[in-house]
Amino acid sequence: MTLAKRLYELQQIDMEIQKKQETLDDVSRQLGESEALLGAKTELLAEEEHLARMDKQQRDVEWEVEDLRGSIARLNEKLYGGKVKNPKELLSLEQEVEIFKVKLRQKEDSLLDLMAEVEAMRDEIELDTGRLRKLEGEWQQEQGILAQKRTEIESQLSDLSQKRQTLTFEISSQALELYDGIRLRKGQAVVKVEQGMCQGCRLTLPMSEWQQARAGTLVQCSSCGRILYLG
Ligand SMILES: [Zn+2]
Repeated sequence: MTLAKRLYELQQIDMEIQKKQETLDDVSRQLGESEALLGAKTELLAEEEHLARMDKQQRDVEWEVEDLRGSIARLNEKLYGGKVKNPKELLSLEQEVEIFKVKLRQKEDSLLDLMAEVEAMRDEIELDTGRLRKLEGEWQQEQGILAQKRTEIESQLSDLSQKRQTLTFEISSQALELYDGIRLRKGQAVVKVEQGMCQGCRLTLPMSEWQQARAGTLVQCSSCGRILYLG
């Protein structure tokens, strides 16, 4: 195997490593809690807190209704109990009862509104809990697939790295340095020559370069500097 061929193969491996590494990075980014899942959890938590506040408010209004009913019952007792006989006092008691009754009606109305709101909130929470469970199920499945994918890529990367190391044992450190330098500057360090043309810069090679490469010497394209591989 010529040195150019070895370097070409090394480049194939390096390109594959790079591609796999990018996929691995992508997979790693997708592992962990998803934005959608976090958003759904936060929303549900806020709804549950809201419901707890509304429940408390409902209980408070229920107490107020009870109080008002109690007050009205006590006033009615006084009014019809027969102990109060003064007409002026009786009239004032009647007026007081009316005022409490108006207050009671208002409270009962707001209690009904609140109960309807609580009911609607409970329905919404039930719906959103279902949505969250579904999302979590999908997420768990997806995470399982991703974790498996990550393991596969890691194993492939380890194989490639092994292959690379074996190959570099057969390449001089001088040639490796040259390869690394060109790869760093140009991305592609080794290029094929097709129909006498450097596939890196598309220029036709001088015959002498072509002959040298043919003879197995490591030749760089005089135009773009890449290592030439005749294939
Ligand atoms: Zn070239």
